[in-house]
Amino acid sequence: MDVDVQNIRTDFPLLSRQVYGHPLVYFDNAATTQKPNSVLRKIDEGYRFRNANVHRGVHLLSQEATEAHELARRQIATFLNADSSDEIIFTRGTTEAINLVAFSFGEYCCQAGDEIVISQMEHHSNIVPWQLLAERKKIRLRVIPINENGELCLKEYRSMLNERTRLVAITHVSNVLGTINPIKKIVEFAHNAGAKVLVDGAQAVAHFAVDVRMLDADFYVFSGHKIYAPTGIGVLYGKRELLENMPPYQGGGEMIKKVTFEKTTYNDLPYKFEAGTPDFISSTALAEALRYLLDIGWNKITTHEDDLLNYATKRLQAEIENVQIFGNAIEKSGVLSFLVRDIHPYDLGVMLDKLGIALRTGHHCAQPLMDYLGIQGTMRASFALYNTREEVDVFIDALKRVITFF
Ligand code: PMP
Repeated sequence: MDVDVQNIRTDFPLLSRQVYGHPLVYFDNAATTQKPNSVLRKIDEGYRFRNANVHRGVHLLSQEATEAHELARRQIATFLNADSSDEIIFTRGTTEAINLVAFSFGEYCCQAGDEIVISQMEHHSNIVPWQLLAERKKIRLRVIPINENGELCLKEYRSMLNERTRLVAITHVSNVLGTINPIKKIVEFAHNAGAKVLVDGAQAVAHFAVDVRMLDADFYVFSGHKIYAPTGIGVLYGKRELLENMPPYQGGGEMIKKVTFEKTTYNDLPYKFEAGTPDFISSTALAEALRYLLDIGWNKITTHEDDLLNYATKRLQAEIENVQIFGNAIEKSGVLSFLVRDIHPYDLGVMLDKLGIALRTGHHCAQPLMDYLGIQGTMRASFALYNTREEVDVFIDALKRVITFF
């Protein structure tokens, strides 16, 4: 059965907006997604009816807020198929989760001369924290190359792994190329070499089911706002034995057991990594967003989004002269990056915006990838479960129109 996209669209109030007098076509979902009514209601209800700080209060409101927050944690653990909700750490997003691991795992097990492996297609969030660690600890950063289709060169990756490799930090899905990386294989190779693996799931979790135990990932991170949930909340999944051995990332309330001026002892998982008041409203809204997706079902979501990507790719290739598509991996999801002739993506983006079409243009926080491709940036259309073939038609027709101005 197909996804009932017209029905789904009515769940997202923002989609009925007009932009410069045109119905909005929102194709910037890789940057952030729109929110369904159920998620908006969850935020509203949270502040209206059970707003009280979690974990510390004896009063009813605080107990209810704590229960809702911890229920959300358990639902997220189930969503990722984690062993335990103790392995789910709330963060502000993917970026903070990666920084947490870079700092804490870096302190725990990286020494001068060690190596960390990343790839040519990483987002700055999965590059710069490792560069900071590399500077601090005098370790070496190694980069897996990609082939002309935008897929990782696995042979080169294998030959990079050695007894000095501590961690492989790799994106599940490229936010520029759309490539779905073979994480299970990547993890297997890394584990055989004695290295751990962090997976950046920012562009994956909204598009297909993720099972951290099946992948055997040591760390898996994602952002709420890219999966129909609010900004300011994200998740770090980590295997218990690693998290238990890693030192805290930030100090403050919540993460302690006992504080004296002489010595402080730290709280158990997951709180050891959650200093300060958590975003206990957004955590419940994130769990609601996941429930929304699960209610629709992954089969329907993935089939629908793959159809949009294939349809848009085919029309772009067939009907736009001198179009260049970046990322032709066999396993691809969600995003379509392209350039038309020598037209600057910014100029096309501005003109499409005037017709109500929201696309992203630029380097997409992946400057090393742009350097490798020898370009400044691309246009990027990225799809969500509420997009339609009709919107792709509007986009292609608009693109044809604006190209005639150059
Ligand atoms: N990694 C990837 C692959 C991304 O696409 C993004 C967001 N564009 C991030 C990391 C960073 O996510 P956030 O800004 O939500 O922390």
